Amino acid sequence: MSRETLIDLIYLVSATTFLIALKGLGSPKRARWGNLTAAAGMLLAIVATFFKYVDGHALYHVPLILLAMFIGLIVAVPVARFVKMTAMPQLVAIFNGVGGGAAALVSITEFVHIKATHPATYVILEVLLGVLIGTVSFAGSAIAFAKLQELMTGRPVTYPGQQFLNAIIGLAALVLIVIILVSASTVLLWILLILAFVLGIAFVLPIGGADVPVLISLLNSFTGLAVAASGFTLGSNLLIVAGTLVGASGILLTRLMSAAMGRSLPNILFSAFGSVVTASGDASRADGRSVRSGSPEDAAILLGYASRVVIIPGYGLAVAQAQHVVRELADELEAKGTEVFFAIHPVAGRMPGHMNVLLAEANVPYEKLVEMDEANSELQTADVALVVGANDTVNPAAKDDPGSPIYGMPIINADLAENVLFLKRSMRPGFAGIENELLYNPKTTLIFGDAKDTLTKILASVKTA
Ligand code: NDP
Repeated sequence: MSRETLIDLIYLVSATTFLIALKGLGSPKRARWGNLTAAAGMLLAIVATFFKYVDGHALYHVPLILLAMFIGLIVAVPVARFVKMTAMPQLVAIFNGVGGGAAALVSITEFVHIKATHPATYVILEVLLGVLIGTVSFAGSAIAFAKLQELMTGRPVTYPGQQFLNAIIGLAALVLIVIILVSASTVLLWILLILAFVLGIAFVLPIGGADVPVLISLLNSFTGLAVAASGFTLGSNLLIVAGTLVGASGILLTRLMSAAMGRSLPNILFSAFGSVVTASGDASRADGRSVRSGSPEDAAILLGYASRVVIIPGYGLAVAQAQHVVRELADELEAKGTEVFFAIHPVAGRMPGHMNVLLAEANVPYEKLVEMDEANSELQTADVALVVGANDTVNPAAKDDPGSPIYGMPIINADLAENVLFLKRSMRPGFAGIENELLYNPKTTLIFGDAKDTLTKILASVKTA
């Protein structure tokens, strides 16, 4: 068997591991294993590439490539290891951005490289699409990162005629691509690069912080397409497969997230959602309505009498890092004969699967994590819904108030339970920035404070009861 055939076979094995990994990522139980499988496949492909002959020569610049890989490793490994779960979306944004940027760079060098050989039009088109999509993804991801990291405002940045202007820039980029196809002009390639960069920034500016994770998933899909385009350019089947898988899964995830938020993708991308905050941070409301607040000890008494408790975690659980103590509380209640499960909303937290990852880290058994639809059918018979740092995902306005910006978003019906214990620090709204009627429901008792502190106190009281 020739060296090339062997390397192609190794690439086939790698591509297969990517498919197996995607299957694994479909369930929290197998997600970690899935990730490792893909990483192993990628490592295999990288090692094989070092033995490849390019145009009859062994790989050029091996020391430089190794140095670049080393720099990448010493930057990425500590960042990935020590990033907080709450900062995960911006990490994904920046990793995605460098992927898009790398694909664009490959396409630019290939353009310069193949120009003199008068390649077929479709070859130049692949290269130009790689430049356009990769650069949009790079610039857009950088702005998404800046928004989530609060290096700039997370609110939508809008100005008159914005969408029209964006459409003009997009159109100009496409026209430029047609001209470059005919002229093969390198100067115009640089202009395309600048236009793509501006387009990436302009496209992301009007998208509010609450919608940025959906946008990241879309940009991730763009990066996949740019990588696939680079694969065509370089004649690499593995890059084509990997890029297409990223592109397809990114778009599917984007659709799933939009559906879980009850909104269409155009609405997310173009409506500048999240520009208005409609609730104050005051514990006493401006319109005079009051809420019922209680102590952790009151909560422990209520939980002590309950025979069925549904815990509904949200973003605040991640902020408070309360996943371990909430598991301890669930264990303690179960030891006392109470039935306990966790109701998981698909967009609770700030990224898909956020709650599953947190609770898995605290060794909550997977069978205790119940998905939204099933949880909703069980909530009517629950004695207590214990809301831990969730807000938008339990807001009844999503089903009752057609004027609400989140109207139509499926929610976990905490209000169906006999009693609601609501753990948060203040009356501040959730990420969507809107008032939550559940806080004023007579069934609801608010326990103000950091979720970890409150749960620790509740646990202590439950233990001594
Ligand atoms: P929300 O953002 O609606 O609410 C979080 C709540 O946690 C806030 O009310 C906050 O209130 C409370 N909180 C914050 N820190 C703490 C703390 N230390 N202790 C106790 N409470 C705390 O969260 P949800 O998970 O319910 O909803 C997720 C939102 O994010 C939805 O709007 C969803 O559409 C959006 N989103 C999610 C994505 C995903 O993929 N998961 C993607 C894109 C958007 P207070 O400040 O008073 O403590």
